[in-house]
Amino acid sequence: MAKNVFILGAGASRDGGAPLMFDFLDAARELQRLQLVNDRQADFDLVFKAIASLQRVHSKSRIDLNNLEVVFAAFEIASVIGALPGLADDEVARLVPAMRALITRTFEERLDFNRSGTYREAPQPYWHFAELLGYLLEQAYPAQTLAIITFNYDVGVDFAVRRRRYNIDYAFESPNSPSIPVLKLHGSLNWFYCNDCQKIVPFDLTFLTEELRGVELHSFRPQLRLSSLQQQWLHRTQLGHDVAAEPFIVPPTWSKGEHQRTLASVWKRAALELRDAENIFIVGYSLPATDEFFRHLYALGTVGETVLQRLWVVDPDPGKVVEARYRSLLGPGAEQRFAFFPELFLAGIGRINVNSGRVRITPVRSAAPREYLVTFLRR
Ligand SMILES: [Zn+2]
Repeated sequence: MAKNVFILGAGASRDGGAPLMFDFLDAARELQRLQLVNDRQADFDLVFKAIASLQRVHSKSRIDLNNLEVVFAAFEIASVIGALPGLADDEVARLVPAMRALITRTFEERLDFNRSGTYREAPQPYWHFAELLGYLLEQAYPAQTLAIITFNYDVGVDFAVRRRRYNIDYAFESPNSPSIPVLKLHGSLNWFYCNDCQKIVPFDLTFLTEELRGVELHSFRPQLRLSSLQQQWLHRTQLGHDVAAEPFIVPPTWSKGEHQRTLASVWKRAALELRDAENIFIVGYSLPATDEFFRHLYALGTVGETVLQRLWVVDPDPGKVVEARYRSLLGPGAEQRFAFFPELFLAGIGRINVNSGRVRITPVRSAAPREYLVTFLRR
């Protein structure tokens, strides 16, 4: 297991243009208004029709129908019971796939995979994050190992890691070569569920930088159309298999469902990584009160024999509530190892570094003055 575990929340992707849970549906509506998602018009229409129906049903309750995770979870429940007032049966059946399509297209339009020359680059802040990972893996002394746990659906971190030619271990099966564990607790936009094999088939993002690059470049659109590339790939590689057309992503509000079995190996591995971690760095994850899953995972995962040396949280914390939540999660014994940095990920990356014996300040290559590498005392 790895010494350093990075936990990335939605805030980590915000610098790259991704909306957060509370404004995600607004972002989707805006894209629809601008006619940028006409290819998935039917899906967007269905999602907003269902939200309007839920609004009527819940007019007297305090359920927050602007929040993506609340709505996604409500759709999952509707699809299990096979009913949502105001919707026909076939519409209810299409609801969760439509939501997955909406999420995919919204990320595609909003998350900024820049094109530099003939290559795509990872969205910020993942580009710098991958540089930090490279430093930890190849230059730091003593040698460091690392794992990434993320709540995010988007492939910003996956792309950045592959772009630097590191292999990814999604914890579905044992890897054949050295790889970085990237444990996506709520699924991923590049995962597809095969009903025949009863397992997830991940799309290797290397295709974006190599094989399909030429195809992709014929598009003049600045945004990366991951979904259409993946559909080509699915048609070509999964011939004869019953693979879901929409990516495997689940609502963050964790519930006992069919997903439990599918994601079990991912969650199990995440708990093992937390158990053995010496340093845990949490970025852009505000520890919402509703996320019992992470609280349990953390509690169960950190009972190992490894003494946790450092638990650092980077979050802009505009409401000044996140730090207090972490302090209450950790309990009184954790004060010495806990540090909170109320800032964006990009600035936080500069602070997160592990080295021995020395304190030094080094500028990150091609970074703004603020993003300085501050190397802290290891022991
Ligand atoms: Zn299959």
